[in-house]
Parts: sequence; structure tokens; C-alpha cells
Amino acid sequence: MNVLMKALLESADIALFGHVNPDGDCVGSCLALRQYLQDNEPEKRVRVYLESVGRNLLFLSGADQVLPLEEASNFDGDLCISLDAGSLDRLGEAGEVFRKAKKTLVIDHHITNTHFGMENWVDGAASSCCQVLYELLDDEKISKPCAEALYTGIVHDTGVFRFSNTSERTMQIAGRLMSRGLATNEIIDRSFYQKTFLQTKVMAKVVGEARMMADSKVLLGVLTNEQMHVMGATSEDTDGIIDQLRLVKGVEVAIFAREDAPHVFKFSLRSNGKVDVSAVSTYFGGGGHRLAAGFTAKGELEDILNELMAMILSDKGKYGWNPINQ
Ligand code: 5GP
Ligand code: MN
Repeated sequence: MNVLMKALLESADIALFGHVNPDGDCVGSCLALRQYLQDNEPEKRVRVYLESVGRNLLFLSGADQVLPLEEASNFDGDLCISLDAGSLDRLGEAGEVFRKAKKTLVIDHHITNTHFGMENWVDGAASSCCQVLYELLDDEKISKPCAEALYTGIVHDTGVFRFSNTSERTMQIAGRLMSRGLATNEIIDRSFYQKTFLQTKVMAKVVGEARMMADSKVLLGVLTNEQMHVMGATSEDTDGIIDQLRLVKGVEVAIFAREDAPHVFKFSLRSNGKVDVSAVSTYFGGGGHRLAAGFTAKGELEDILNELMAMILSDKGKYGWNPINQ
């Protein structure tokens, strides 16, 4: 019996949590597990608490049942499961509820995961939390709506099967999920590629003003708080910008800094293979994966950037690579 089935054994009232600023993999894994339990263990009560669900993910079954994070403190059931979160603080307001729960389980794929649950099931090599979750479920018991959520999560965290975290196993699982008759092209277009006009304009603004650094090996995109106000943009309107920056020819590291509040910057980092951006982000109190990571920093942007560039360019070995010398 696997760690999930064991945790579920004596649990009748279950809460599912994901990380703040939930992405497709986070929402997908929470809704997939909710659906799976509803389909196969209908006597159990399962509630999902998330900070938000993006408009592009509202088509997923159960998205309309997601409860706001503020209500998590009312939960006094048997089991809390964290999906796609690398550390307790990533659960936001739900962190305190999770910490005090009778039974906790962490299911994740971040190599920086701090194993903050009583039980922890972390596969740092898996493409997505949805892939890790799939391995814990009985394939034959996966319904079409559950498969849809798992497939969506995998699509999002692999950038539609493009990123190097996409393995042979990822494709096998995607194939198994497709066999339920999913409208895969629609899922990919509507939830991943489709952008609103505002999102397209924000992307154009950031890409248009992007700054090349470190001998054209590091590309920086910035969206200031003032620009966000002027354009009427929220954090949801910046999806995909970092992936666009990463694709610029010759770039080894792409950086996107979004000023969510005055002097509070959310950094997204992407590497094309030579720099471990997870190590860099961990230094700044964040985390993630070797090739995709992030953190939040407060202060003057230029000061943070100086420190960040020093870290990325550090040739001390820990961060591996000095783009200027290679
Ligand atoms: P993104 O740049 O898309 O926000 O995040 C890329 C990856 O880094 C995701 O796997 C995400 O969970 C992780 N990540 C982003 N920001 C943070 C952060 O502030 N702390 C931690 N621990 N991980 C982060
Ligand atoms: Mn993920």
C-alpha cells in the first residue's frame, strides 16, 4: 500500500492545499485528487483550499468548489495533504493549519522540498506534482475529469512537453490519460497558450524593454508596480513572460522581476542548462527546480539585481558556471 492510500485509510475528512499563486500543476493536482476521492471513496469529505484559480483553469471539474485560503483555518478534520508546495511557508495562510493538523502528507516534485509533512512523498525528477500523484493512484480508477486535471498539470509544468523535465514516463502517463478521450488540443490551447489582449500587451511591454546582461547570456525583464497599475495588470497577466525570455537565442538565464507592491519583487528564473537557478533562488529564500525557480525579495531593484547577478555569475562551484568566462 502506498503512502497516499495509507494516509487515507482512517481519514474521513480531508483538506487539500497547494502553494500560493497556484499554477496549472498545483490546481490540477488538487482537483485531480479531489475528483479521484469523490469517484472512488464518496463517503469521504474532501475540501480544496487555494488562494485562487486562474480563469484559464476554471474548466476543470471541481474548480467552482475550491474554497478560499482564509477558510482553511475552519478545518479540523483528520488529514491535510499538501500538493506541489516545496515548503510550509509556500502554503501561505494554510501553513498554520497544516502544521497543527493531526495527520499530514506532502506530495511534491521540488528538489528543494523541505519534507515538512509527517509523511513525505517527493520525486524531484518528476515533471510535475500531477505525475507524482498519478503514480500514487490506481490507473483503472481514474475517471475522465480526473485525467483531465492530471493532464492539464503535466502540460503546464512541462511547457507542453517541451522542458527537459519531460521524460519517457511523462509521455506514457500523458498517453494513459489521453485514452480517456480528453480534448487535448483544446486543453493545451485554452489553458496554456491562449492569452487575453491585456496579457499580450503586458508581455509585449516586458519583452520590448528587456535588458541583456552578462555578455548577452542573461536576459532581464521587469514589470514595475506603477506599470502594473497603469495597465491594470495583475499577477495573472504575466503568465508565460519568463518562458518567452528564456527562448531568446544565446540566453543562458532568463530573469523576470515583477514588482507586486512597492519595492516587493517576485522573481522568476529560468535556466537553459548551465546555471542551477534553484540554488540561486534558495540563497534568496525561495526555491524550485534546477532550471525553473523563483523567490521574493524586498528593496531597491538595482541592489537586488547586483546581488542576484553576482550569484548567477559566481564561479565558486556551487552555482557551477560563469557565463562571462565560458
Ligand atoms: P515561477 O517562476 O513559475 O513562479 O516558479 C518556478 C518554480 O519555482 C515553481 O516550481 C515554483 O514552485 C518555484 N518557486 C517560485 N517562487 C518561489 C518561492 O518564492 N519560493 C519557493 N520555494 N519556490 C518558488
Ligand atoms: Mn509543479
